[in-house]
This record gives sequence, structure tokens and C-alpha cells, in this order.
Amino acid sequence: MADYKGPTIRLHDGADMPQLGLGVWQTPSEETAEVVRTAIDMGYGAVDTASIYGNEEGVGAAVADRPDIFVTTKLWNADQGYDAALRAFDASIARLGRDTVDLYLIHWPSPHRDLYVPSWKALIRLKQEGRVRSIGVSNFGVDHLQRIIDETGEVPTVNQIELHPRFQQRELRAFHAAHGIATESWSPLGKGTLFDDPVLGAIARRHGKTSAQIVLRWHIDSGLIVIPKSTRVERLHENSDLFDFALDAGEMAQIARIDLIDGRGGPDPLSAGF
Ligand code: NAD
Repeated sequence: MADYKGPTIRLHDGADMPQLGLGVWQTPSEETAEVVRTAIDMGYGAVDTASIYGNEEGVGAAVADRPDIFVTTKLWNADQGYDAALRAFDASIARLGRDTVDLYLIHWPSPHRDLYVPSWKALIRLKQEGRVRSIGVSNFGVDHLQRIIDETGEVPTVNQIELHPRFQQRELRAFHAAHGIATESWSPLGKGTLFDDPVLGAIARRHGKTSAQIVLRWHIDSGLIVIPKSTRVERLHENSDLFDFALDAGEMAQIARIDLIDGRGGPDPLSAGF
């Protein structure tokens, strides 16, 4: 069994979060335990699941003998609200087979429900009771973040957002930096749609790496937490073989220019109706 040897990010509550983890959205539940075990054996330090992914049991089975693996799960939108969130957390940790998780996130602000403030208050209680190590959010915009901070005084440790070279989220990242919020990139590979980019291809050839590895190294060198998803052994290995090279300032500047105003691939959290 390998131990995680990559870098970590110190969250504002003092916890250390591995910068590289495995995402398991769309990993079939019956395959999840095997995929996560394989990734942990390769040295992945963290796993990102959610109640809506339907595979918390598989994640829990894979990490049962690995308390060192950093586990994140998320509160689904339909479970928002103070009491509902507390109940949903109990159900998640029962499925994970743990007493606690390292990080619990509100999955989406779901503004049409207008329940993200009481949901955040429930997460604060879970943190105070020691039932989760760290609390954060996902898909929150500046206004959502400002509102939960204003109404509770508690700053999320992490905001997990869509982020990749074609959608770099500079404005939101500047807000995070000003408030000590760590940025975690979902769809860090743009769901596999970025690899035709000639800039990435040229940098990859220079380092003897693949375009996927260049993109993931860009996240790491940008101070982002990154959770690429794969179920294939060779890609799990490729996506974790990132720590024997780094991008120089010129390469980082070239990738900065790939950013697109309309580069979003997933739903817009401000208008998503779920
Ligand atoms: P991703 O960017 O990680 O892309 C995954 C896809 O890219 C794979 O299905 C595969 O088709 C391809 N791929 C992976 N490795 C590759 C490689 N080395 N070479 C070529 N192709 C490769 O996309 P994702 O799954 O959307 O995001 C990763 C994780 O982020 C998810 O599993 C989940 O944990 C999290 N996520 C969170 C939210 C949220 O709302 N909080 C939304 C989406 C994803």
C-alpha cells in the first residue's frame, strides 16, 4: 500500500488536504470500491464523492482500513435546510461506514430553494460537534459566499468549482484568495475535451508527458486542489504521475492564455434549476 507523497494545502482551519485526489462522479457503484482501492495503492491521497453519486458505500469499503485517506462527501440539493442537512449527513456517514468525514460540502447553492444559509448553519454545528473535520461549499459564487459569511461569520475552507485551462475562474479565485478559501477544481480535465489544444501538446512534448498530465500539473502549480476522474488503471496511473516535473513561468503564462469567457462545460450555478 502506497502513502500519498504529493503536496498538501493547509486549509484555514488548520487541516491539511492532499492536492491530488480521485473524483468518482459517474463511477458505477459496483466498480467504485475496486477503483478507489487501485487509486489508493497508486498513492492518491483523497477521494471526492457525494450522496447524489450513489457510490458512498463503495468509497467507504475502499477506505475502511485507510483512515489516512482524506474523504470528501456532499450534501445534495434536495436535502438542504437545517434539519434535513443534519439527517442527510447521518445517512452519508452511515453509507461511508465512518464516524466522521474530512470535508463536507454543500453541493450547489441551489438559489431558487433559498436554503443554503440554514444548510451552512447545520454544517457549522457538525463541525462544532466534531463530526466533520472541515466544512466547505461547492459551486458557490461571490454573492453566495458573501451571504453565508455575513450571516454566520464562518468562512468555508473550500469552494469546489468547475475549473480548467479553458475556464480559469479568475474573479472567483481572487475572492477566495482574499478570504483564505482554498479552490478545488472539478472537471479539472474539462471532462477530457482539452487535449486537442496545440499549446498543451507542445508543452507535453517538451516534458515527455501527456496533455492530461500538463493540465493536472497546471492545477497543482496554480495552488488548486484537483480531483480527476477515471476508472481505467492506466489513466489512474497517468493522472497521478505528476510529481517529477513542474511548469516554468513561461509555460504557466502560455496556459493562462487558453482561458475562454464561455469555456464553462457544466451547469451555471446561478441559473441551475436543480
Ligand atoms: P474530469 O475533468 O476529471 O474528466 C474525466 C474524464 O476525462 C474521464 O471520464 C475520461 O473520459 C477523461 N480522462 C480522464 N483521464 C484521462 C487521461 N489521462 N487521458 C485522456 N482522457 C482522460 O471530469 P469530471 O469527472 O467531471 O470531474 C472530476 C471530479 O470532479 C468528479 O468525478 C467529481 O468528483 C467532481 N465533480 C464535482 C462537481 C460538483 O458539482 N461539485 C461537478 C462535476 C464533477
